[in-house]
Amino acid sequence: MSKKINTPYYMCDESLLRANLEILDYVQKESGAKIILALKGFAMWSTFPLVKQYLKGCTSSGLHEALLAREEFAKDDPNLEVHTYSPAYKDEDIDQIAEISDHIVFNSPNQLFKYCDRVKNINPNISMSLRINPEQSSSPKDIYNPCGLYSRLGTTFANFDERVLEHIKGLNFHALCEQNVDALEDVLAAFETKFSKYFKSMKYINFGGGHHITKKGYDVEKLIRIIKEFRAKYGVDVYLEPGEAVGWETGVLVSSVLDIVHNGMDIAILDTSAEAHMPDTLAMPYRAMVRGSGEAGEKKHTYRFGGNTCLAGDIMGDYSFDEPLKVGDTVIFEDQIHYTFVKNTTFNGIKLPSLVILKEDKTLDIIKEFGYQDYKNRLS
Ligand SMILES: *Cc1c(COP(=O)(O)O)cnc(C)c1O
Repeated sequence: MSKKINTPYYMCDESLLRANLEILDYVQKESGAKIILALKGFAMWSTFPLVKQYLKGCTSSGLHEALLAREEFAKDDPNLEVHTYSPAYKDEDIDQIAEISDHIVFNSPNQLFKYCDRVKNINPNISMSLRINPEQSSSPKDIYNPCGLYSRLGTTFANFDERVLEHIKGLNFHALCEQNVDALEDVLAAFETKFSKYFKSMKYINFGGGHHITKKGYDVEKLIRIIKEFRAKYGVDVYLEPGEAVGWETGVLVSSVLDIVHNGMDIAILDTSAEAHMPDTLAMPYRAMVRGSGEAGEKKHTYRFGGNTCLAGDIMGDYSFDEPLKVGDTVIFEDQIHYTFVKNTTFNGIKLPSLVILKEDKTLDIIKEFGYQDYKNRLS
C-alpha cells in the first residue's frame, strides 16, 4: 500500500468479491435460478459495475433501496430486475415503488388488496407476489429468525387468502440466516406441504436469502440439485436473493489504537466502534476476528478492544497478541463488509469509517470519506 489512508476505513477487495460472484454465477448457470443482490446486506454501489456482470438485479426493502437499485444497478439494462419487498408499504411511497420495480412483494393479503390496483395502473408489467411464512426455520438466532414465534414477516398458511391468486405470479419466502443447504431442504419441505397446490398457477418462486453459498463447506452441488428438481417438478422460475453471501469475507475494517488503559486488564481504545460500525457484534452477538490475534490468554498479551464512544458496552471482545500493542498500531477486523456500513450510525458524533475499494489491479480507491456534515445533516 503506497498511500496512507486515515483510519477507520472499510476496505472491500474486488478480487474477493469477484470470487464470490463466480460461485454464485456457477449456481445460476448450473441450476437455472436467477440470483439477485439483497441491498439490505451489501450496498457498496461503486462495486455494482462488477456485481452486475454476474447477478440479475437487486432486491430492496423499500423506496430508498429500490431507487438505489434502479439508479445504480438496473438503469440501462432491461434484463436487470428491481424487486421490492416491505413488511408494509405507505401511501406516499407506493406509486414511486410501483414505477421503478419489476417485482413487488406484499407481506400480507391486506396490503396486497389495498394496493394491487394502484400498482397495476402505474406499472402494468409489474410482477406481484406474496411473501409466505413457511413456519419452519432453524435460524440460529431469534433476532434473525423470520419464522420465529409471533413473526410479522410473511403470511402463514392460516392467513393465506385464495383471492390473492388472481393477482400474483409468484410466492416468496425468506426463512434462513447464514445457513447451509440442509436448512433450505427443511424449509422447502414445509413450504411445499402447505403451498404446493398453488405452484402451478405461479411463474416463479423466490427462495429468499440466508443461503451461505460462498462460505467454505457450503454444499453448492446439493443446492443446484434441489433447485433443478424444484424447477422441473413445478415448472417455475426460481430466484435466490442473498445479501451476506455476496459480501462474505470480501474485506476488512481497519482501525488504530488510540490509547491503552488498565482496569483489571489491559484495554485498548480504538478509533472505531462496535456500536456504530460493527453493529452485529453487539446485536447477534458475535466476536469478529482480528488479524494476527488469538483468543484471550492464547498469546502472551491480552487486550479488551473498546470503541471510541461513551457507551460502556461498546466492546468488540478480548484478543491476544505475541507482542504488546502500542498506541498507533493498526487493528484489522476481518469480514466487515456485509451488514456493517449499511447499518452504521453517527452515535456520539463518531466519524463514519471511509469506504475504500482495493481494485483488481491492486490500486486503492477511496470512494467515500465522511465528516462533520454527515453528522449534522441528519439532525436539526
Ligand atoms: C435480509 C433478507 C435477504 C438477504 O438475507 P442474507 O442473510 O443477507 O442473505 C433476502 N430477502 C429478504 C426478504 C430479506 O429480508
